[in-house]
Amino acid sequence: MDIENLLERISAAARAETDRGAVADYIPELARIDPSQFGISVCLANGAQYSAGDAATPFSIQSISKIFSLALALGRLGDSLWHRVGREPSGYAFDSIVQLEYEKGIPRNPFINAGALVVTDAILAGSTPAETLGEMLRFIRTAADDEDIRINERVARSEKATGARNTALANYLLSYGNMHSAIELTLGTYFHQCAIEMTCEQLARSGRFLMNAPGSSLPRLISSARIRRINALMMTCGQYNGSGDFAFRVGLPGKSGVGGGILVIAPNRASIAVWSPGLNSYGNSKLGTEAMEVLAREAGWSVFG
Ligand code: GLN
Repeated sequence: MDIENLLERISAAARAETDRGAVADYIPELARIDPSQFGISVCLANGAQYSAGDAATPFSIQSISKIFSLALALGRLGDSLWHRVGREPSGYAFDSIVQLEYEKGIPRNPFINAGALVVTDAILAGSTPAETLGEMLRFIRTAADDEDIRINERVARSEKATGARNTALANYLLSYGNMHSAIELTLGTYFHQCAIEMTCEQLARSGRFLMNAPGSSLPRLISSARIRRINALMMTCGQYNGSGDFAFRVGLPGKSGVGGGILVIAPNRASIAVWSPGLNSYGNSKLGTEAMEVLAREAGWSVFG
């Protein structure tokens, strides 16, 4: 397979597309992003990296950060985390509140907002927000082998200013005893982790720890058992109520963010980052999903054979 040529073809097709989805507008700083952009980057198990399009342009990783907070929380709490958050697909939008009432304050999974707030609250225990964010950035920088990964304070402030719904979710969790730190601290940490910026090149490198490549020389950040579990959750819950459609079309575990990025793992083979700011009706990158469908098909990477 000529991966360089394939990525160039995918990028050219994305550039020519006129129906690009809609940029997230509920976070004002994200509403200003130019929707004509598209980038893709692939890290292979043999260490090679290939990119096309706007792969060196930083964007807001948003909910993709939930992978890194989950990895830290599992490292810190182990399986006791699962007393506070479930691991089933939700079938509801990422910021939905209705299911929380039915299920008495235990969010369906760690990737919807309510679940991610619980995960962030769990890693905040005994630390300050600055220490927790520092730990998360250290993890990501080590994974990406790149110190130049930072939080965009303007995006964090913009999220806080318009965070009424996340605040409602946190209050709801608190009423069921499933928030242990002060909710302002958990929300502040969450808004800042969502505001981490990376390029496609950095994001693809940061995902290599989830590839579980045999004989890899990469630093082992988490155990193989946890890698399998995080990938399983990405497959079943990583695109919210669009997870079934993504599994059907792409056949790989992935995690999206409303900034338009998606991190996708081809187990044992590749870590892939794609970015295009326009979103589909589920809040996942429209062209990013389409690009992944083509890449997985042409590379023969679906986990379903
Ligand atoms: N920061 C966003 C929010 O909390 C993350 C959502 C997302 O990326 N789907 O609403």
